[in-house]
Parts: sequence; structure tokens; C-alpha cells
Amino acid sequence: MFGPEGDILRHLPSAFPPHGADIPGRPARESNFMNAPLTPSAQDSLPASTRQAQVVQALQAHLPAHALIWHAEDTVPYECDGLTAYRQRPLVVALPETEAQVQAVLKACHAIGVPVVARGAGTGLSGGAMPHALGVTLSLAKFNRILKIDPVSRTAIVQCGVRNLAISEAAAPFNLYYAPDPSSQIACTIGGNVAENSGGVHCLKYGLTLHNVLRVRGFTAEGDPIEFGGEALDAPGLDLLALVIGSEGMLAVTTEVTVKLVPKPQLARCIMASFDDVRKAGDAVAAVIAAGIIPAGLEMMDKPMTAAVEDFVHAGYDLDAAAILLCESDGTLEEVEEEIGRMTEVLRGCGATAITCSSSEDERLKFWSGRKNAFPASGRISPDYMCLDSTIPRKRLADILLAIQQMEIKYQLRCCNVFHAGDGNLHPLVLFDANDPDQLHRCELFGADILETSVAMGGTISGEHGVGIEKLNSMCVQFTAAENEQMFGVKRAFDPAGSLNPGKLIPTLQRCAEYGKQVFRAGQPQPFADLPRF
Ligand SMILES: Cc1cc2nc3c(=O)[nH]c(=O)nc-3n(C[C@H](O)[C@H](O)[C@H](O)COP(=O)(O)OP(=O)(O)OC[C@H]3O[C@@H](n4cnc5c(N)ncnc54)[C@H](O)[C@@H]3O)c2cc1C
Repeated sequence: MFGPEGDILRHLPSAFPPHGADIPGRPARESNFMNAPLTPSAQDSLPASTRQAQVVQALQAHLPAHALIWHAEDTVPYECDGLTAYRQRPLVVALPETEAQVQAVLKACHAIGVPVVARGAGTGLSGGAMPHALGVTLSLAKFNRILKIDPVSRTAIVQCGVRNLAISEAAAPFNLYYAPDPSSQIACTIGGNVAENSGGVHCLKYGLTLHNVLRVRGFTAEGDPIEFGGEALDAPGLDLLALVIGSEGMLAVTTEVTVKLVPKPQLARCIMASFDDVRKAGDAVAAVIAAGIIPAGLEMMDKPMTAAVEDFVHAGYDLDAAAILLCESDGTLEEVEEEIGRMTEVLRGCGATAITCSSSEDERLKFWSGRKNAFPASGRISPDYMCLDSTIPRKRLADILLAIQQMEIKYQLRCCNVFHAGDGNLHPLVLFDANDPDQLHRCELFGADILETSVAMGGTISGEHGVGIEKLNSMCVQFTAAENEQMFGVKRAFDPAGSLNPGKLIPTLQRCAEYGKQVFRAGQPQPFADLPRF
């Protein structure tokens, strides 16, 4: 049987122990079956090579030869996503080119009980697209056509494999763009954005993927066509569009998306403000929002991050500052002037030691170039980094940063911080060397500590990168067993066999029992949270 978690974790290379499995006093996890397993079949006990031959034979009937790969040297590029510490080669990779082929692959996999993991560009940071050892990776890379740009309704209909930035490029002649802008937008696909409910620098003002998508079309695990939402702002019945957005490829495979387009602002200007103390910078973020201002972007970087970035892109950052804020305003000339004036006043009142406002579009882009390159810049100063993604109430920003500084000492690893401060969405980058199992282990503990400290401070374990495999343990701290079981119930309603991306997003009861940490609610530990309530 295909257990939801155990199979993936058991097949990880030994250099990369299962997440949390080797924590002292905690036994390695075994597979368990909270998630409805696939129909048990004799095939599950077959050697992988025999199983592979069966799957290849089943899919060859539906795909041209070039759209099916299974030799080890060809499937290696699919072995991980942006969470590179964990790797697993898939049994087979299918690269369909038409919806009919997607449907046929799903039907064939369902018929022979094979797990399917949808994959966009593989830029995900939580292991969502990590393959299943006994499964098919369904690459949607060839679904890269923009089907329609409608400047009148300000919408675009695009295939799921279209890159985020390509939508804005196609809409540019109409003076429109697609607002959610993950820093990976040059590469990540809209299908992946929908699955992760991705955000970006400008989502504080313009909303996440959820707020910018009208309709999602695709197929269920059984290969039946399915559609969520519609062309109008609301659709009759339950709002299943909101359910599928952020469902990490566990409910359906997306093939086509209708997105909203927004007019390009006439003008945008960006303030760069320096602070000599992270607490003052954190308080300034809360003060800007409390003043009733919703900046187009409000980002923060700490000193280690600005040092790493400045060396890389020379954005002109203040290297003496304990933290810098980037605050953007967009709109008409009058709106921008007024908002920049108000933000400057608030930042000065909060103790900014220096404030520079971009005076040209080039300068504005230069300010942002550092922020947008923060992750690659970290890759230059460390062999590996793990990017965390928790949220925190804005008023606790400084508290979490100071707590992270203590964790650097505790786990003996460095951490740079860059984040969507306006949303309270942290991106601590823990630096480590994956070739050293002890460093990876300490990095995992460090990461879990950040996520769970965020929950204890009233935040959440995930802001925009999803749970994938990375945050499964910490889900046990965020949700009770009953809540996790309800999520499995939703999964079963769409995918009774549990074959779409099994083992991701929702932790099993067994995992949570072994992890054994307390559930927090509204920042408070919940006594006996796992006991059933009557
Ligand atoms: C340098 C860098 C910067 C980043 N910056 C940001 C950021 O600012 N904001 C942010 O939110 N994220 C960011 N990310 C994370 C990542 O880019 C997003 O999560 C993105 O949405 C993933 O898209 P993808 O096409 O690469 O999806 P993949 O990584 O291929 O897959 C992600 C998940 O989506 C599922 N999936 C993919 N396509 C489909 C489909 N067609 N149907 C059903 N399920 C599907 C997969 O199964 C998986 O669970 C960053 C990543 C990197 C490497």
C-alpha cells in the first residue's frame, strides 16, 4: 500500500535523514494510513523495476515516446524542487502535451493504483513537487500557452505551465499586468502558484494568488474534468475555488487558469529606510499599517541579509543598519506624493536613521533588485540554505527576530532574514552544508523552532510557500488531530484513493503522536488539544 508519508520518507537517501526522524528520543516514523491508501494490490509488493515496467507499459498507450521518461539519468532532474536537501527520483516522468493526454495519464494511473505528483517549474520551497518513489511525476511544463488576453474584462486565460512573469509580459501592451509577483516569477508557473497560493512583494496591496484568480480548470485524480470558480466575481454554490487554491496538488491537477489583470500604476516610488535596531524597524512596520497606509510593498531585511545581497547586486543598501525597510507607493502622481510623505513621517517618528526615496524608475528597480535576489545571494555565502516561511503578527516582528538570534547560538548555524514585513510573513534563511548530516539535522531543528515559535507568538507555520514535506511536523503544532483528520476528509472527497501527491501537506495522527508537541491556539498552548471534544 502507498502510505501517505512513510514511503516518501523511507526512500530518502541516507545522507538526508527523514525530517525529524533522527531527533533523539523520537523513533523513526513508519508509514501509516490516515490518508486513505490506494486500493491494496499485489503490485505494491513488486520490485520497483517490475512496477516501473508496468507503469511505462500502461502510459505508453497514451503518450508519444518523447513524452515518457524513466531511465535514471533522465529522471534525476526531477528528484527535488527548491527544497534541495530532500531528493527522490520518480518511477516515471510523464510530459503530456494535451489535456486529453493528462486525462489519459490520470485514468491509467488510477486504474493501476499509482500515485501522481503534478509538477510545474519545480521552484517550490517546501518539497511539494518532490516525487513519490513508486509514483509518476506529471510534468505540466508543456502547457505553456497563453490562450487569451481580454483587456475589456481585464482577464487572461492561460495554460497551467505558463510562467508567472510571462502573463504580465503578454498583458503589457494593454497596460495591464498580473499582480502577484513571487521572487521566482521568472520561472515559476501559474499552476504552481495556484497550488501554493503564492504571494510576493506586492501582495500586501494587491492580494495573493487567491485574490487574483477567477477560475481553475483541470482533472481529478480519477481523470474526470473539474472546474472551480467562473468568469464572474462569484460562482454559485460552495466556494471550492478558494479550497483548490493552496491545496498543493492534492485535490486536482490544474490545466488552465483564468486570472485577473490590473492596470499598471502610473507611477511607483520606493523608500529605503535604515534602522539601528531591529525592534525599531519592526515597530515601524506595525506603525505604517496602523496609520492606515497600505503600501504597494513593505519589506524588511536584517544586517546579515543586506551584507550578502549588497555584495551580489550592489543595490546601495546601508550596511551599517541593523535592518532596512523598503516601502513602496504606487498610483497617480498625487497619490504617490501624498503617501510617500505620510510614510516618511511615520518612519522618521519610529527612529529611522536614514531615509532615501527613489528619484527614478532605475533607482526604484535597483532598490528592489537586492530584495528580489536575496535567495540567490544567500547561495553565494553558504553551500546550502533552507528558506523558512512562517507568519507572525506584525507587532511581534522584533520579538521573533530576537528569538532567531538566540536560535543561531543554540543551533550553531547562521541565519539571514528577509521578509514581507507588511504581511508579517518571515523568510529566515538558515545557512548550512547539506554534505554534513549533523548540520542538516541542526538546520531542521532550527527551522522547526522558528515555525513553532511563530505559532506560539500567535502566527502560522506557513505564509506562502506551502507545507509540502517541509512543515509536516509543525502542522501537528498548528492543528489538532481532529482538524488534521477533517483535512484528510476533504482530500478523500476529491481523491478517495489518496493518489494525488500523497504524503504532503497533512500530517498523519501517528506522525503527530510521535512528534508529541503541544498545539497552540491564538498564541496560547492548548491543554489536551488532541482529546475529542463533545
Ligand atoms: C528563488 C525563489 C524565490 C521564491 N519566491 C517566492 C515568493 O516570493 N513568493 C512565493 O509565494 N513563493 C516563492 N517561491 C516559491 C515557489 O516559486 C512558489 O511556490 C511557486 O508557486 C511554485 O511554482 P512551480 O511552478 O515551480 O511549482 P512546483 O514547485 O513545480 O510545484 C509546487 C506545488 O504545486 C503543485 N503543482 C504544480 N503544478 C500543478 C498543477 N498544474 N496542478 C496541480 N498541482 C500543481 C505541485 O504538486 C507542488 O505541490 C520562491 C522560490 C524560489 C526558488
